[in-house]
Amino acid sequence: MGGVKAVHLLTLGWERLPKAWSIDGWDPSDITVEPVPGVLVEVDGGFVLLDTGFNSALIKDPALYKRFHGNNENIAAILPDGIDEPLLESLDILGLSSDDVIAVVVSHLHNDHAGGLKHFTAGQPIYVQQLELEYGMSEHPGPERNGFFQIDYNDPSLNFVKVNGHESESEVSVVPGISVIPTFGHTPGHQSVIVEFAESSGGAGFVFAFDAGDLRENFTNEWAIGGTIDCDPALTIRHIRRLKALARERGLILVPGHDPVLWPRLTSALDSVANHFPVGLTTDALFSD
Ligand SMILES: [Zn+2]
Repeated sequence: MGGVKAVHLLTLGWERLPKAWSIDGWDPSDITVEPVPGVLVEVDGGFVLLDTGFNSALIKDPALYKRFHGNNENIAAILPDGIDEPLLESLDILGLSSDDVIAVVVSHLHNDHAGGLKHFTAGQPIYVQQLELEYGMSEHPGPERNGFFQIDYNDPSLNFVKVNGHESESEVSVVPGISVIPTFGHTPGHQSVIVEFAESSGGAGFVFAFDAGDLRENFTNEWAIGGTIDCDPALTIRHIRRLKALARERGLILVPGHDPVLWPRLTSALDSVANHFPVGLTTDALFSD
């Protein structure tokens, strides 16, 4: 018994950046604005959060913005209008607080995904790939030049649970209905997340690619992602195909990590069905023009 009961998509901010970060070889002068995703998954006994958004303090304080985000000159970090702590506000709208989160899964430790870890304590396990944590903790300032801010995650009070997906590249269940699958390339230990509703809640679910494929075109055209660390972008196509196949085989909806059209579209589709699986919705329908 048990498993996933509901899924809420949270939009924790925005990034203005060259689309070439998302698609390898794209015209570097083409600038786009992409949503920063969080996913709140209701399970027996509480909620599991997938990714945490920005560390808002590093955006609101001009000196800290310059110190951290100033190094990534061509990516602008943007909080939702008038909102100080997007993660807490999103939880609050649902009548929840960070105490209702029983576990966190981080796809990777980039600042737009790990910046909200500050809201969690030792009682809340944080699932991350071992390789990702090793890279993130490795010699300063290499990772920071690649968008990892140690201030977000190098904290002894955080309870990281390391998933070892390097050898087998296999799927690992973290809680019933939620499993992670290594999709290394964007970062050394990136993982995507599979969320399957309990049969008692209607079944089916999602494959959240996160940054294994930011945009619809990464999947429809099987175009390599642009931003990688120590990895030939062309190698990321293998994971794109793998996630597509997995979603197809299990009847799950594939969700790109930062798509400016699909993310809001799926958010409203979920809203309209009380955050259950939108029966009849398919990846093809979601991806349609
Ligand atoms: Zn990233």
